[in-house]
Amino acid sequence: MRRGVTMFLDVHTHNPSTDPNILAIENRHSGFGEPVGSAYLSAGLHPWYIRPETLADDLDLLRRYAAQSQIVAIGECGLDKLTATDWDTQCRAFERQIALAKELGKPLVIHCVKAFQECLHFLKDVRVPVIFHGINNRLSVIRPVIDAGYFLSFGKALLHPNEAILETFRAVSADRLFLETDDTGCNIREIYKTASRLRNIPEKEIALQLETNFGKVFKQ
Ligand SMILES: [Zn+2]
Repeated sequence: MRRGVTMFLDVHTHNPSTDPNILAIENRHSGFGEPVGSAYLSAGLHPWYIRPETLADDLDLLRRYAAQSQIVAIGECGLDKLTATDWDTQCRAFERQIALAKELGKPLVIHCVKAFQECLHFLKDVRVPVIFHGINNRLSVIRPVIDAGYFLSFGKALLHPNEAILETFRAVSADRLFLETDDTGCNIREIYKTASRLRNIPEKEIALQLETNFGKVFKQ
């Protein structure tokens, strides 16, 4: 990271920006045979795209790919009760990716839809940092994730928040917070500006806090 310049950190995106002041972690859910280049990447099997018949091969490919230093996190991976992928296959893939993250000592980026209790159950012995991304839930759903000490990443849901999301966002302590654009095409600068307004603290302060969080999780 360049010193003296506050970076905008986009902890989870599918659309990397060329803006030199944005440091993004670009997500890959396939193409694990391709060269990694110089970007920071996260790589994982997304519950939407898992197929039982190719799971073993895909996990092998991921294992080799994720060992490279540019892959700074495993994920997004997790559990999704609204997707067609069968539940047992999702659980198997999630378990294996948690094991991989532990083995490589890399953080996990979690995709979770209507399965927070189950995700927390699988994660209970995990010591690598864990980031639940794309938070857009009411506080009673997210409280157990906060209590477990995990990081929470917010994105587009902040731009037009309802009261429930606002309550959740304000309940997350600053040292557990990240911001992201995911697949929305939003600008991370806009998310920072909105986050600063919603928490009523200067944008610079959020930026410095997120740099600290980033440094802790990704050992920069
Ligand atoms: Zn995503």
